Amino acid sequence: GYSRLKGKTAFITGASSGIGQATAFEFARHGANVILTARRKDRLQELETQICDEFPSSIVHSAQLDVQDRAAVFRVVEELPAELKDVDILLNNAGLVIGLDPLSTVSPEAVHTMLQTNVVGLINVTQAILPIFLARNRGHVINLGSIAGREAYANGSVYCGTKHFVNAATQSLRIELMSTGVRVTEVQPGMVETEFSVVRFSGDKDRADKVYEGMEPLSAGDIADTILYAASRPDNVVIAEMLVMPTAQG
Ligand code: NDP
Repeated sequence: GYSRLKGKTAFITGASSGIGQATAFEFARHGANVILTARRKDRLQELETQICDEFPSSIVHSAQLDVQDRAAVFRVVEELPAELKDVDILLNNAGLVIGLDPLSTVSPEAVHTMLQTNVVGLINVTQAILPIFLARNRGHVINLGSIAGREAYANGSVYCGTKHFVNAATQSLRIELMSTGVRVTEVQPGMVETEFSVVRFSGDKDRADKVYEGMEPLSAGDIADTILYAASRPDNVVIAEMLVMPTAQG
């Protein structure tokens, strides 16, 4: 099934670490071309070099991009190299959680950044790429939701809210695009060990490690595998939603 990815072009947000990085690598392994975007340009360049070394037949392009910056998003899409303009897959993966605080005290800055990245950023990139899909009546939007988009926990109202939005946006978009041939998928991971695991506790590594005590979390590669599965189904099949949990998370 993964052979259907050969020659496809994937536009990936948040490709500089974790799930985005792992997925970019796996897409390239299966013959897809990849457009790597994130804010940390040095990380993207490292990944680009790694992919070019390992999978020389894959065309790779990296572009520094903050998904919050709508004008920059449209510019990056506009300026794609000619051989990568026909994007087939959009992976809306960029996302973050800033601290985890009760609603009563969460800072306006944290609220702003989570909403601008996880909600507005996803809308920006989707609006910039959709015209490419609609012009060809094909394409696949794959959104990173979360178990946090199906339930909410203490101190997570804003992050959970942004992931509930991803769930709503995925459902709305799928129906809106029903007659166009464009597919829309949401992948909802449980705990995945990435840089995110530490970022969510504002850099407190001890606290982050404690979460995984006595359990094995998912790896970024486990989610990359899920994304590749969804992306490589035949055109008449859409994997609408996949909830993927570590066996020990329950
Ligand atoms: P990482 O922190 O490892 O990766 C997040 C990526 O998003 C980085 O590449 C980062 O790059 C990028 N990013 C953050 N803000 C922006 C921005 N404004 N513009 C562009 N890129 C941005 O975390 P994960 O790989 O774990 O997270 C990926 C997705 O998976 C997120 O949407 C997250 O919510 C979701 N998820 C993660 C879970 C987990 O347990 N880890 C569980 C469920 C869902 P840079 O800083 O260079 O811009």
